[in-house]
Amino acid sequence: MRRRRRTWTTAVAVTASLATVLPATWARAAGPARLDGAIVDLSYAYDDTTIFWPTEEGFKLEREHGEVTDKGYYYAANKFCTPEHGGTHIDAPLHFNATGKSVDALPLEQLIGEAVVVDVSAVVAEKPDYQVRVPDLRAWESAHSRIPHHAIVLLRTGWGKRWPDRATYLGTDERGTAAVAKLHFPGLHPEAARWLMGEREINAVGIDTASIDYGQSTMFETHVALFAQGVPAFENLANLDRVPARGATIVALPMKIRGGSGGPLRIIAIVPP
Ligand SMILES: [Zn+2]
Repeated sequence: MRRRRRTWTTAVAVTASLATVLPATWARAAGPARLDGAIVDLSYAYDDTTIFWPTEEGFKLEREHGEVTDKGYYYAANKFCTPEHGGTHIDAPLHFNATGKSVDALPLEQLIGEAVVVDVSAVVAEKPDYQVRVPDLRAWESAHSRIPHHAIVLLRTGWGKRWPDRATYLGTDERGTAAVAKLHFPGLHPEAARWLMGEREINAVGIDTASIDYGQSTMFETHVALFAQGVPAFENLANLDRVPARGATIVALPMKIRGGSGGPLRIIAIVPP
């Protein structure tokens, strides 16, 4: 199988790219190790404003402790409950593929890779139902270079500016099953997903909207195409306007939920100086 070919060479490439980024920036910092702004946080915080699918309840944090104990020390501890798919999160292949990997089984090598940021914000600004297609990806290649093997391709639609306003981010602030038909935001066209996997052998894709399929999708064909090939998707990404078109390294570490179809994702871009 084609995807099995990614073996230790991927790990070596990843280690090499981190090695070229980290010491150089660390060396410039005085005192405790700092990266001088070279790390961009692509995750939103989880709170009661975090956007979830209209059919889901949101993130719930229950405070269990937050007080000075009778022994004199302060003690805080909370409990949280959340659907897997909301806020900045990963879709594991299992999400739309019964035999796909669950989130805990994804190899770490697949969650680290060179960032390719495709800025389609100008194209989609007036077209909330736009689907990013192969010509958009080829235009990126004409302007930059061929999308490298094992890249993590991030679609910058500009929708992040609307976060956390549900009405403009999702196209509706209604909730429940009837609201799903009113969703409007851009996504990745399934043909483009197949091209990225078949022709460029990417590691993963990501987007700054609520779903890798566009809002008006009813069959989630891009999800199905990606997960048939074992390629995960990152959704509701933050701060894509702070990641260069190429050259950054993405590290995406989801919560390791045994058997999970996805889950909360802490994802960063390491931007070389
Ligand atoms: Zn999801």
